[in-house]
Amino acid sequence: MTDAPIFKRLALIGTGLIGGSIARAARAQSAAGSIVATARSAATRQRVRELGFADEVAETNVDAVKGADLVIVCVPVGACGAVAEEIGPHLKKGAIVSDVGSVKGSVLKEMAPHLPAGVHFIPAHPVAGTENSGPDSGFAELFVNRWCILTPPDGADPTAVDKLGAFWSAIGANVQVMTAEHHDLVLAITSHLPHLIAYTIVGTAEDLSEVTESEVLKFSAGGFRDFTRIAASDPTMWRDVFLNNKDAVLEMLGTFNEDLSKLTRAIRRGDGEALFDHFTRTRAIRRGIVQIGQDSAAPDFGRMQPGLPHTEIPRPYASEGD
Ligand code: NAP
Repeated sequence: MTDAPIFKRLALIGTGLIGGSIARAARAQSAAGSIVATARSAATRQRVRELGFADEVAETNVDAVKGADLVIVCVPVGACGAVAEEIGPHLKKGAIVSDVGSVKGSVLKEMAPHLPAGVHFIPAHPVAGTENSGPDSGFAELFVNRWCILTPPDGADPTAVDKLGAFWSAIGANVQVMTAEHHDLVLAITSHLPHLIAYTIVGTAEDLSEVTESEVLKFSAGGFRDFTRIAASDPTMWRDVFLNNKDAVLEMLGTFNEDLSKLTRAIRRGDGEALFDHFTRTRAIRRGIVQIGQDSAAPDFGRMQPGLPHTEIPRPYASEGD
């Protein structure tokens, strides 16, 4: 697409769903001249070699960042600080360092002290994902028409911010800039709380299934099944999200509990009007999401339906997990 790649050398530290998708997308769109990737374990590095989505696979984080003009750290939020400490002294002057973590305030706090002057640190969060993990799960189209939020710290170089934004646009994302604090508050309600609710409800149903002898699984209707997809998300990633966005999540959880109490009261009192009004309001929100193109209007979240007996059941449609 572009005449010259936006970055000459892209280094990806962590090559799971997100790192693996960035590599595939950057290659497909010629957004980087060369791509070097690495991962924590020898098994993942070997798998990345087999999959072939990077030009080089480095054995260590330090080797990966040498000479790179864009470094994207794609590891769980809780591991970002240690990675920054490791790579800090080996970064090229003028390089841009970014990440993809689902929480931004803590990443900024943990990574910034380890990054030397002359390096541009611009945290980012692509609001796109699935419940799958690992290098096999990535795909080049993951970021298409999804938001990527950049949270540059005060005083960040605007040229570097624009350049990173151009990279994300090139691989399909819509780019928005905001503060890390605002990001964490918004994502607490749009992503973190929904995941917490899914983890809770699936856990509760599992406890009940001992009583009902797995009828919960057998008769899992659309609502519960959709929660199970979200609740299948990576435990390490989500543990780190809740540990690192504690204040915003607790604030949103407080409001959620109040609203849940109101609905509980409406059910107890048989207040159909209150229930109907609430569900009408939420239905309009769903329609708004479809209207702005952030989801499909197809029933059942756009999943393909199983065929009739004896036909192959298609793989579920991938939808965003984050
Ligand atoms: P993933 O598929 O599990 O991949 C994680 C990668 O990080 C792997 O290469 C793993 O290496 C490496 N890693 C794990 N723990 C590490 C540690 N302690 N130190 C160094 N490397 C480590 O995860 P992902 O879904 O790509 O998520 C990566 C980041 O993207 C997270 O910060 C997450 O918050 C963010 N994010 C995720 C989504 C989503 O929907 N999944 C969406 C947006 C943003 P090994 O394979 O060798 O263990």
